[in-house]
Amino acid sequence: MLDADFFRRWMTATAASVDREAERLTALDSPIGDADHGSNLQRGFTAVVATLEKEAPDTPGAVLMLAGRQLISTVGGASGPLYGTLLRRTGKALGDAAEVSREQLAEAFRTGVDAVRTLGGAAPGDKTMIDALAPAVDALGDSFAAARAAAGEGAEATVPLQARKGRASYLGERSIGHQDPGATSAALLVAALGEAAGE
Ligand code: ADP
Ligand code: MG
Repeated sequence: MLDADFFRRWMTATAASVDREAERLTALDSPIGDADHGSNLQRGFTAVVATLEKEAPDTPGAVLMLAGRQLISTVGGASGPLYGTLLRRTGKALGDAAEVSREQLAEAFRTGVDAVRTLGGAAPGDKTMIDALAPAVDALGDSFAAARAAAGEGAEATVPLQARKGRASYLGERSIGHQDPGATSAALLVAALGEAAGE
């Protein structure tokens, strides 16, 4: 079972991974964006970790709702409200249980990803974070490792796509041939689940 500590470790592991990969995320956001994705998420997840330490929410749902609120208030740019919505809505779907199963997390994460799709209007294939998140949702029912692989493959599969949502879509065909920064960071978020589980 996954308790509040697991969800705190998930956020801490994501923050560490975003720190490590910040330059790469910003470099990916350079040809098809405005070169701020790494710094946006670094600021956001640093604030998330600080808030979780200070407020110490004691259920899985409360951890994710607080993390999501913090992302929305600290990250300028499209990705803040989108990731904030993902975590808030996933947290809300977990309710006030003290512990949840991986299957319950998979179900709640689907609710969160659906909320991101509604907010941003992106479908799979539009070259956004949805291209990593949607396959991860399906694989999360199997294992954290399967979700990690699915998200990573989804991110890599954005390279040949033309962007239809977000800033990159302004480039039209010139967005082809570059990996989407948000799909890349989404794969980091999903990979951090396995780290939190000690895998
Ligand atoms: P901004 O584009 O405002 O500079 P970021 O650089 O932080 O914000 O994030 C860009 C990423 O956000 C993109 O790579 C893409 O994955 C994601 N994104 C942008 N718009 C949308 C959308 N409408 N739906 C889903 N994801 C989106
Ligand atoms: Mg950007």
